[in-house]
Amino acid sequence: MFLVEMSNRLRNIDHTSNSFYRHNSDEFVMILNDVNRIDEMAKEIIGVFNDSFIVDTYEFYASISIGISVFPDHANSVEELLKNADIAMYAAKSTRGNQYRLYRDNMDEANDKWLLLETKLHQALKQDRLELHYQPKIDLTTDSVIGMEALLRWYDPELGHIPPDRFIPFAEDCGLINDIGVWVLRKASAQARHWNESHDLSLRVAVNISPIHISTGGFVDMVRGVIAETGIDPNLLEIEITEMSMLDYTEDLIDTIKQLRELGITISLDDFGTGYSSLNYLKKFPVDVLKIDRAFVRDIVPEKSGIAMISAMISLAHALNLQVVAEGVEEEAELNVLREHGCEYVQGYYFSKPLSVEDFTNLIVNTVTNKSSY
Ligand code: C2E
Ligand code: CA
Ligand code: CA
Repeated sequence: MFLVEMSNRLRNIDHTSNSFYRHNSDEFVMILNDVNRIDEMAKEIIGVFNDSFIVDTYEFYASISIGISVFPDHANSVEELLKNADIAMYAAKSTRGNQYRLYRDNMDEANDKWLLLETKLHQALKQDRLELHYQPKIDLTTDSVIGMEALLRWYDPELGHIPPDRFIPFAEDCGLINDIGVWVLRKASAQARHWNESHDLSLRVAVNISPIHISTGGFVDMVRGVIAETGIDPNLLEIEITEMSMLDYTEDLIDTIKQLRELGITISLDDFGTGYSSLNYLKKFPVDVLKIDRAFVRDIVPEKSGIAMISAMISLAHALNLQVVAEGVEEEAELNVLREHGCEYVQGYYFSKPLSVEDFTNLIVNTVTNKSSY
């Protein structure tokens, strides 16, 4: 819906002399005949994004990155022209938000860096050098660990630790995200089954799945395959998708979520409150859990109005028969407010940071043998 509205606006720009195509998911190509009007056109296109978009009664703003290459200065073939426009677009993207860049020769260097990162990530995945850490989720009614969220860690000997906030969007852009998603699902499911069997527990493991991946055909079959292969009880598997996934949702996505739930998998709506939350979406999306984003938890201090907000979110979730997890709980004061307002689950540094397999195993062992640690 958003893409349709955006393409309509772009098509309306000087439609007499341009050709305008959708290149792939969220990339569009425009062919201009008049080289002298490049700057003017780029500014006009960016201007289209000054006005808000309205999808499903919800209003929001979007931004655009534009890369430009010129025939015959930058390339002689269509392929090369597109490739160089793509390189220029990534240069525009790296400065974030509503920028345009004309291709320059040394942009290849930046492109080399990009390729290096892609190659490294690809190798890390293939050679099993990505790692998962696990952050416990705590049930506030029993003060016990009821499950854990699997979070990716990537350490490269040359580049150091690269945070998921940086490499996940990159993996989404370069097409590696689906393979990464499968790897995470497999690894986390096998690990959870192992922990549950060896310690006689029923911990539910949550895996983050990119909206791109979940919208790919065959996703449910892949999940079925991983369940069969790892032997995890699907009732102890949870998939977290971000609220952003709903922005461009389709009936197919809703259907996928329904099929996953039929398998017994729990579906959580991650980062709730940060994106395009609308009651309409919540009505349409058959989810089980709302994860309230840390941005709201952080505001639970007397001088801010956050308590009213959190309390409203918890009531909303309960009215819709959803469970609530508050993310990023760091302070006892935050915990007390959440408890008082009936939030049932929490996650955050107050209890524990995401832990390596070894540290999480120790935590389980200590919790099982010494229940008072939580
Ligand atoms: P997220 O799913 O919202 O995960 C929660 C993030 O908050 C994690 O950051 C976690 O380490 C951090 N966190 C937990 N407790 C606290 C707290 O008390 N205070 C603060 N300040 N932060 C806390 P992390 O591990 O860096 O991950 C960042 C994001 O990267 C995740 O946000 C998720 O969107 C993405 N991500 C991580 N692993 C995966 C994955 O396997 N697949 C996909 N698709 N995305 C992933
Ligand atoms: Ca998450
Ligand atoms: Ca989150």
